[in-house]
Amino acid sequence: MLLGIKAWLRHPRLMFNRLRYAQISTKITCFYAAVLLLVLILTSALTGLGVYFSFYHQAEVELEISMNRVLDSLEQGRIIGSDFGRDDMVLPGVVLRITDNAGKVVYENDSHYPPLSRIEEHTVKNPPFWANKNMSVVEFRNATLYHARMDVEYRGQIYRMHFFKTITAERHFLETLQKILFLMTILGFFLALIAGFFVSRRILQPIREMTSTARKIEVEKMDRRIVVPPAHDELTELAETFNHMLDRLEDGFKQQQRFVSDASHELRTPVTVILGYSDLLSRWGRSDPAILDEGISSIRSEAENMQQLIEKLLFLARADQKRQVLHKESIELSELIADVMKKMELVTKDHHVELLANDDGMIYGDVVTMRQMLRIFLDNSTKYTPKGGHITVSSRRVADGKFMQVDLSDDGLGIAPENQQKVFERFYRVDTSRTKAEGGVSGTGLGLSIASWIAEQHAIKISMTSALGKGTTIHLQIPVI
Ligand code: ADP
Repeated sequence: MLLGIKAWLRHPRLMFNRLRYAQISTKITCFYAAVLLLVLILTSALTGLGVYFSFYHQAEVELEISMNRVLDSLEQGRIIGSDFGRDDMVLPGVVLRITDNAGKVVYENDSHYPPLSRIEEHTVKNPPFWANKNMSVVEFRNATLYHARMDVEYRGQIYRMHFFKTITAERHFLETLQKILFLMTILGFFLALIAGFFVSRRILQPIREMTSTARKIEVEKMDRRIVVPPAHDELTELAETFNHMLDRLEDGFKQQQRFVSDASHELRTPVTVILGYSDLLSRWGRSDPAILDEGISSIRSEAENMQQLIEKLLFLARADQKRQVLHKESIELSELIADVMKKMELVTKDHHVELLANDDGMIYGDVVTMRQMLRIFLDNSTKYTPKGGHITVSSRRVADGKFMQVDLSDDGLGIAPENQQKVFERFYRVDTSRTKAEGGVSGTGLGLSIASWIAEQHAIKISMTSALGKGTTIHLQIPVI
């Protein structure tokens, strides 16, 4: 400890720099100990000054009372001489000495008091600021005197009256008091250092625990959480926030893992099929034209499926990384819908497609992705509606023209209520066999996730009404500009 203090005194700047990199507990301890030291020093100094001041003031008052009494007795006709000071004229402890013109002592009530010449010699040139300017302070080695003078004219002669008050006892008391205060200051400082060290260590203990938990959290052990301190303070808040952040990270990480494993799973099937058909072709394809045709068309269809899947995966990956570029502009929705429907009618041979209403409405969006979204819903309707089914679209201005309400309906397989939320999740398919059974293109389970991302980017609200065996309607509420 002493070495530390010496180092501080010798290289203060170096030590301050070192403190900057110290632990928070050390910083807090040092700061509070320094503040306490300052307070203690100030308190001691003020106490000392106050006591000093009051002692001097007390002596001053006693001298003044004594001087007044002397003046009163002179007025009452008391004669200056060796008998002058009887009847306790001056207060106890006050020494009166009267000298005549020639400086000869005419009267004194204490003959052991130092002679005037010695007193003059030891008079302090610069008395303390709290001493009365009309009086002087005399400092001997072991004593301090307060000295007041008064000249009196008596029977044609000038007499000088000296009043003295010893304040030695008070000075000793003060010196002892100063020593005690100094010791208390040093003791207080070290106590503050020790207490501060332990208290701040204890207060910061949860942070140390958090650090050690955080160190143990790894990709394989993402379920670890920080113990939340029982007190409701900033550290509790920090621990809770940290745990929530870990929850979100864990969710995101799991989602990512699921996405990767689902994607690989989805890609494995077409690759297996392609490999199977290429084996078949290499064995029988050269000799059997029927097998050759079937093999080539199957490989092509699987490759197309794969291509679609990869494109969708890339779209979602770009969306997740916020790299999917949208060129938003003002679009006339009725034109977009009419265009999508026209192309739909051209390619849809097995279903009745009808545009029931197409109100005018300017919206703000990216044409490419808006078209993609509408296509996803309409493709689903085609996929999940048996041949001969009906697909209708209506677009109406609603809510005083603030929104366009677009409903895309089919009378196909429908979705059970318990699955209606899940269909928007990535890779979720209600029943993988049903599309194949209908002879349609097998889905990837990504269409609706892409559509909901596009809708979100355009502040479009999506809702769904669907009943098994009756059909599905997708409702879109698109803001109008
Ligand atoms: P997919 O590529 O499988 O169509 P989607 O994300 O577009 O992927 O759809 C998810 C699931 O929701 C589909 O597998 C299907 O079972 C169901 N679904 C979507 N649209 C409809 C619809 N119009 N009618 C019946 N089921 C639907």
